Parts: sequence; C-alpha cells; structure tokens
Amino acid sequence: MRVPLIAGNWKMHMTRPEARELVRGLKARLMGKELKAQVALAPPFTALETVANEIADTNWILVGQNAFWEEKGAFTGEISFGMLAEVGCKMVILGHSERRHIFGESDEWVGKKVQACLHWGLVPIVCVGETLDERERGLTLKVVERQLESALGGLEEKVAGEFVVAYEPVWAIGTGRTATPEQAQEVQAMVRDWLGRRFSPMRASKTRILYGGSVKPENIRELMECPDIDGALVGGASLDAVGFAKIVEEGDRAAREGGK
Ligand code: PEP
Repeated sequence: MRVPLIAGNWKMHMTRPEARELVRGLKARLMGKELKAQVALAPPFTALETVANEIADTNWILVGQNAFWEEKGAFTGEISFGMLAEVGCKMVILGHSERRHIFGESDEWVGKKVQACLHWGLVPIVCVGETLDERERGLTLKVVERQLESALGGLEEKVAGEFVVAYEPVWAIGTGRTATPEQAQEVQAMVRDWLGRRFSPMRASKTRILYGGSVKPENIRELMECPDIDGALVGGASLDAVGFAKIVEEGDRAAREGGK
C-alpha cells in the first residue's frame, strides 16, 4: 500500500505574510477531514520557518525546494540539507526541471544531491521528465531512464532510505498542458518497472511515483485513477487555497475509490 502524496511546490512565490494566509486558508478547508493522502508544502526558503510554525498542529510535511550537497562552507547563495532538516523539512525536491533547464543542473549534480539528502535522513522527491522535443523524437523513456539512473542508480538497495519519484514532463510544467492519463501512466509504469529491475520488486511496489505538470482540480481525479500515479506535485495551482484544497480532496477521494 502506498500512501497518496499531494505536494505543493510554491516556487519563487509567497512572502511570509502571504504564506501564513495561504496555510491558514488550507487549514480552514482541510483540517478535521479524514484524509488518507499526505499533504506536503514546499515554500521558498524565506518562508520555511513561518510555514513550519503554521503547520505544527497538523501532520503535513514541510518540503525544501532544493539544497546543495556540501554540509557548510563558502557556497554563496546555497543552503545545505542539514539547514533544511533543522528548520523542520522532511522532504526535498531535487532535479526539478526549472533547476535543470534554467540553472543548468546536470544529471550528475542531481545524483550527488540525492546522496546527500538521504545521508541527512531526508526524503528526496526526484523529478524526471522529457522536453517536448525529446517526446516528439520518441526519446521519452530513454531520457527518463537516464535521469533515473544518474539520480538513483548509485544507491545500494540495503542502505537507500525512502525516496519519491515525480514524473514531470517539461512541456506540461506551467503551460496548462497536462499529459493525458495514458501518457502519464505509460511513463509512470516504466519508472516502477525500472525500480523493480534496479532495486527490488518490494522497492518498486512501495515507492510513491507522483505526476506533475499543470495538475488542477479538474484533472487530478483522472490522473489519480491511473494505477501507477500515487499523487501529484503541483506548482501553479498550489498557490490558491481553494484550488489546492480541492486537489487534495479530489485526489484523496480518487485514491480511496481506486482502493489505493
Ligand atoms: C511543478 O512546479 O512541479 C509543476 C508541476 O508546476 P505546474 O503545476 O505549475 O505545472
């Protein structure tokens, strides 16, 4: 059994007062509801402590959006996994397509970050996904497998902690263009198959694989009905309390009805 996970990636949005208001809006809509799905929030670094305080009376998960693998030192502008752990993070998004494509993070960097993240006892949410050009050239599965191999392939099954994989086709992120459930399911199933071959069938059946890319209240249900979609990584639609609460509730309902 995999516990559904719905994570909001706030990217470079939300001052502290805005973050407080958003969390309070979410709590007003979700607290007291019997949800099986876990809720996770990834605010910008400056709002982590504010959100940590606001969600202290919930079982919601605080998530970092990125970190550098070194513990400390002369790395201006970076923050460490230890710093994220200290402020209360339990998970960290790694290899997000904006990190890869805007900031030039390589597959190798993502792999080093995953190792450091696990070393600190944090759960990496490892993002993988192809560009539109790669999809059109029929390279989707090849690209995703290469990204998985460099992010996770160096881990030993016996010592690897928990990790989450998020399939996020680059062409669907922030574009309003969602992958069809069939397109998403095809890649998510391949990811699970890869986990089974690279690690173990047990690891494959336990690992949560999220879908991300223009998830909205209107499409979460059909996505969550896919057998290999265990939740969502939500960008733009996570900035609105009404919409994100709806995504959590609809996703949770679809997962329950599907026996997840
Ligand atoms: C994301 O940032 O991970 C994402 C999927 O963004 P959006 O939901 O806005 O497409």
